[in-house]
Amino acid sequence: MIPADHPRAKSLRTRETLVDGFRRNIVAVEGLIAHGRGEAYDYLIGERTSIPSKKAIRAAAASLLTSNKKAVLSVNGNAAALCPKEIVELAEITGAAIEVNLFYRTEQREKAIKAELEKYGAKNVLGVGPAASAKIPELSSERRRVDPTGILVAETVFVPLEDGDRTEALVKMGKAVITVDLNPISRTAKAADITIVDNFIRAIPALVSETRALKGKDEKSLKKIIQKFDNKKNLSRSLKMIRRGF
Ligand code: ATP
Repeated sequence: MIPADHPRAKSLRTRETLVDGFRRNIVAVEGLIAHGRGEAYDYLIGERTSIPSKKAIRAAAASLLTSNKKAVLSVNGNAAALCPKEIVELAEITGAAIEVNLFYRTEQREKAIKAELEKYGAKNVLGVGPAASAKIPELSSERRRVDPTGILVAETVFVPLEDGDRTEALVKMGKAVITVDLNPISRTAKAADITIVDNFIRAIPALVSETRALKGKDEKSLKKIIQKFDNKKNLSRSLKMIRRGF
């Protein structure tokens, strides 16, 4: 039991959530290590949602809302363990599809993630078992598999906590790529069109509320938000904040 007054209570509870996800076969052991890398960057950004992150969240919300239902939320084990409810909410608000997309694919884990999302009301979870029959060009092995009705044909893909190779491959396929990555110098952060440099547990609820707030705005003003957003500049602002000690 983590004492509520522990200075790192929130971070410790997040770890417990991931360990629990690991025991329930949702999180891969490598996912626990990836989270550790994220935690280190979270220290460096002051464990809060910065102004550049808020800008990226706004652009991401506008992008998902203007994708005319051709957006896919790609879900891996860590994302499903940390914020399943918000992922389902985001799909409902934007009309995006949800696809299980794993670096370390096993059918058992795919099914466990699907079941977890369904607990929160997800209806049509793509990418599970034989459904992931299409292949991302330029990638090898199991990590290239995607759903032919999902990521393969999507215009916009939301790929939080993603590996650099796969992000770069999606960009080469012409997709608009949105990510959440605490590391502003990861290959994913640099390759994506919109990078939210924030902890997934803070970013996704903020993205849900921003999407709610922007829903119903006219297409022109949403597109303007996207056009005005410059990912390179935004990343360098995040990096500057780290250098200066936020
Ligand atoms: P890349 O291949 O993009 O250069 P990487 O090799 O670090 O990066 P992974 O090991 O797949 O990629 O790690 C996933 C990324 O997710 C890491 O950059 C890590 O900082 C980030 N990350 C981990 N946990 C979280 C979290 N809770 N919120 C946001 N980002 C996270």
